[in-house]
Amino acid sequence: MSFDLTRVRADFPILTREINGQPLAYLDSAASAQKPQVVIDAESHFYQQGYAAVHRGIHTLSAEATTAMENVRAQAARFLNAASPEEIVFVKGTTEAINLVANSWGASHLQPGDNILITAMEHHANIVPWQMIAQRTGAEVRFIPLTATGELELSALPSLLDSRTRMLAITQVSNVLGTVNPVKELVAQAKAAGVATLIDGAQAVMHEQVDVQDLGCDFYVFSGHKIYGPSGIGILYGRKAVLDQMPPWEGGGSMIATVSLTEGTTYAAAPWRFEAGSPNTGGIMGLGAALNWVSELGLDVIHQREQALMHYAMDKLAAVPDLKIYGPQQRAGVIAFNLGQHHAYDVGSFLDQYGIAIRTGHHCAMPLMNHYGVPAMCRASFVLYNSEEEVDRLAVGLTRIHRLLG
Ligand code: PMP
Repeated sequence: MSFDLTRVRADFPILTREINGQPLAYLDSAASAQKPQVVIDAESHFYQQGYAAVHRGIHTLSAEATTAMENVRAQAARFLNAASPEEIVFVKGTTEAINLVANSWGASHLQPGDNILITAMEHHANIVPWQMIAQRTGAEVRFIPLTATGELELSALPSLLDSRTRMLAITQVSNVLGTVNPVKELVAQAKAAGVATLIDGAQAVMHEQVDVQDLGCDFYVFSGHKIYGPSGIGILYGRKAVLDQMPPWEGGGSMIATVSLTEGTTYAAAPWRFEAGSPNTGGIMGLGAALNWVSELGLDVIHQREQALMHYAMDKLAAVPDLKIYGPQQRAGVIAFNLGQHHAYDVGSFLDQYGIAIRTGHHCAMPLMNHYGVPAMCRASFVLYNSEEEVDRLAVGLTRIHRLLG
């Protein structure tokens, strides 16, 4: 299938908005992506025609809603090529997924003196939960350092991965630099050493086909809102044999088998054991529609288009005077930069006046900012609904700001 930008853009109602009197150029999808009409419709249709509490009712609406929810679980399993829907846990997002693994798997596996290996390019969501569980269990968090171009310094791996390493938790794609990490190779090395693995796919699943069985990881996590779905819903994939061994994290309704005030509680099987309380069913329906929408367009087609746009943007931005671009040449559609000595917030505010939305700040990756010795960066991200014209506007805007601010 070929890529039709006009048709794709027509699916996103918000892209026709004007911001500060200019057409919106939305270059902040790495923070959160806009939603196609089918996602908005799926969620609102569910509330209009299909809504009821799931799992606890025998009435028709409740049974329908439960089936619809479990269908999305099966769909998410197919999307990631998981071996079965029982390997899919509904969570709020990437952050909750990693906290769940740290608190359930981590608390039951980590001993004083063990270590968890992450990288210096992780989002705080894949740092802080590990630091917290390390503090509770007496484990240590180690990190793979970065090269000057923002790739993993893999020569450091042999000195970091040792007999006390229990977990390798790494991002597939950097949310700041767009660096695509060799996760399959790293998982293979970790597995050979008997180390569990978690891949943060928050910046990856919308750009390329993911196959968790091929990757061989124990856990894979992502957020619905970055893959054109609703916010407040995400997926934790866990290999069945691993999930089955994990204790529950949060307690409450829906995650139990029996509850007795005198005998205590027995728990439901995975994945339901990890889904305490009433789930975000509207979000689940929207996520199902988003995964469908992306699959129909085709991740191969999406990948090709985004790569072409990223290369176009790298060329255009290279011509902007005094612009420093961070990260490797080959990357996902994410470009972090600073303009001369100007603070990222100033640059972002000017661009906003031109209708261009970018991200500014530390991008929830303070260790990465430290690596480059800067407090903040600007980040433009380019996805399937962005155009060459928007890239041109960004380059012209930055050149104008350079002229104005000196
Ligand atoms: N990991 C990465 C790589 C991310 O980009 C993000 C979101 N910026 C997260 C984790 C956290 O995702 P969420 O806020 O949806 O839980």
